[in-house]
Amino acid sequence: MTIPIDAAYALELDAQDKLAHFRERFIITDPDLIYMDGNSLGRLPKATLPLAENLLQQQWGDRLIRSWNEGWFTAPERVGEKIAHLIGAHPDEVIIADSTSINLFKLVVSALRYQQGRTRIITDNLNFPSDIYILQGAIDLLDKQHQLDIVPSTDDIHGPTSELLAHLGQQTALVTLSHTTFKSGYVYDMPMLTKAVHAVGALALWDLSHSVGSVPLDLRTAQVDLAIGCTYKYLNGGPGAPAFLYIRRDLQEHLRNPISGWMGQKDLFRLELAYQAEAGLRGFLTGTPPVLSLSLIEPGVDLLLEAGMDNLRIKSERQSEYLIALWETVLAPLGFTLNSPRDVGRRGSHISLGHAEGLRIDLTLLNDMGVIPDFRAPDNIRLGIAPLYTSFRDIHSTVIRLQQIVTEKLYEKYPDEVPIVT
Ligand SMILES: *Cc1c(COP(=O)(O)O)cnc(C)c1O
Repeated sequence: MTIPIDAAYALELDAQDKLAHFRERFIITDPDLIYMDGNSLGRLPKATLPLAENLLQQQWGDRLIRSWNEGWFTAPERVGEKIAHLIGAHPDEVIIADSTSINLFKLVVSALRYQQGRTRIITDNLNFPSDIYILQGAIDLLDKQHQLDIVPSTDDIHGPTSELLAHLGQQTALVTLSHTTFKSGYVYDMPMLTKAVHAVGALALWDLSHSVGSVPLDLRTAQVDLAIGCTYKYLNGGPGAPAFLYIRRDLQEHLRNPISGWMGQKDLFRLELAYQAEAGLRGFLTGTPPVLSLSLIEPGVDLLLEAGMDNLRIKSERQSEYLIALWETVLAPLGFTLNSPRDVGRRGSHISLGHAEGLRIDLTLLNDMGVIPDFRAPDNIRLGIAPLYTSFRDIHSTVIRLQQIVTEKLYEKYPDEVPIVT
């Protein structure tokens, strides 16, 4: 596909974009800054500010402890229900608690205990490192009775689907994968893999951190067993906002939260000393929820629900196709490689571009060119497309600035050594 590479064409695409007005619903303090990192930390929705003010002034300042009965206590389910709508789950299948890593730990340990006698856990080497560390920690805790199979991708871009299928067997307890992988943006075929996992009697646990808010999901139809995900990426929930966990309805009564705390206790204010888990997902809570950051997740989720995941996906596909077409014409001749799947159906909402000078180009883009990307070792310049606020113009400018950095060798001012934080 050849496309016009001029800025006027990008502006034309923006003019045709029916979702373009959602950009105005976010705080944008510097109109010249191009933000291509909404897949790491989503922008701040305007509606979050008055809510934060209300939480502090009214709910905490004025209502004090009475607020627990005026919405705080039920906030984990209330926000969970909204996320359930986004991912095609039943409202009582999602709850907000803790961080993604901790929720993964709770679900993995409970799933392995439930799958007594089965000893293999399967994942891939494209999974987020924290997920792998959590699996290793869970295996240690359960006295090293399990073996972790990390199935490698053949090209570090595409998930090793057929190899994963070949690993499945009667010993498989659990298969856990990132639905959209964090580096390349590869998207697994969730319904097909979940079905194959079920066929051998194993459980499927999906990390939706890079999918929720970027890819339409239908956990109900796919009959997904377990899932977790982040709220500060495409959901725009704010830095360190707590995560969500999903457990399919019929599994909830069979799984036990390994971190039993008072928030998961049945009739908690009776303060009985013997732990008895609350029915449903509240049993997967542990301690007091972080009410402020939990409450601030809601405005971002509301924006996604208002725009509609199917509409957002259409825009995201158009934008990533546009970026790839520009890459092909403008950047590929300069040594940039496409480190994301070419097939739009297997791609999430971010694009990774590789280059031998990747890190120095990334630093130049960030420090001198007014574009915020992020970088993932060894050479991935990761460009996140958040269709609620990313414009075609943003994508066009990013590509033109990458072109300029390489043709004018602007990156040479940076030393060829790795800084600590990328
Ligand atoms: C961002 C991300 C996480 C984040 O985990 P935290 O516990 O919030 O630090 C986990 N898994 C994946 C796949 C992610 O992309």
